[in-house]
Amino acid sequence: MGGAGHAGAGRRGRARAGGVRAVPDPRVRGPGRGAPGDRWLLGVDPSGTAYFGAAGPLPEVEGAAPAGLREVGALLEDRDSGLLTHVVALEHWHATHRFCPRCGAPTEVRSAGHVRVCTVDGSEHFPRVDPAVIMLVRDEADRILLARGPSWPADRRSVLAGFVEPGESLEQAVAREVIEEVGLAVRDVRYLGSQPWPLPRSLMLGFTARADGRAPLRPDPEEILDAAWFTREELRAAIDAGEVVAPGPLSIAAQLIMRWYGGPLPKMPLF
Ligand SMILES: [Zn+2]
Repeated sequence: MGGAGHAGAGRRGRARAGGVRAVPDPRVRGPGRGAPGDRWLLGVDPSGTAYFGAAGPLPEVEGAAPAGLREVGALLEDRDSGLLTHVVALEHWHATHRFCPRCGAPTEVRSAGHVRVCTVDGSEHFPRVDPAVIMLVRDEADRILLARGPSWPADRRSVLAGFVEPGESLEQAVAREVIEEVGLAVRDVRYLGSQPWPLPRSLMLGFTARADGRAPLRPDPEEILDAAWFTREELRAAIDAGEVVAPGPLSIAAQLIMRWYGGPLPKMPLF
């Protein structure tokens, strides 16, 4: 990115260990080759180098193809994946906050892209983040609960998740989502870590929780098509048999599952 706000993924690819599969080779572009359009300041590193994201049509670069955060986030170095995550979140906010929520007048960019100010009443508006909880629910036999959402592919399974509601603590959100989605009461809700997910503006907050594995599961049909407990052996067998596809390793959902599983899952996709 380094001033351009996009990653060009080379078509030539890069052989992975074992030469099984070629993957894109993402490169960042300097500001001179970036897209025309607005620029947002993303930060300054200890050497004094400033990083900007650019919002606008992508330039044609020979031998390269445009790529999104989902496709290349896991392939980028920490710095570049952080820059790309930052600019995707900022650009979405700018694109959807061009008018004042108080009076409807146009807003203008200030502070290098981190504030928008109403041109009529002067009110300041800042980038928004929507907190969402995502939780690995375990029972007393150390099984985990995996579920499938209504719009997911038939074999996709993941942990439960949901948005935090106004006036709710994170722990309350975990407990409410689990009881709403599968009818289970949880205890021992513990925070593990977080992941920005700017698609469009979430912050995923990861938790573990305990539930009674003997209690009946009552999936809410509007949110969950099916839910089941898995031991490590059952999960491995279901993945090997093609009955279950786990979330991509980039997601905090996969990180939670792998933490319990004890390492990478079988047939783990690249993304
Ligand atoms: Zn206004």
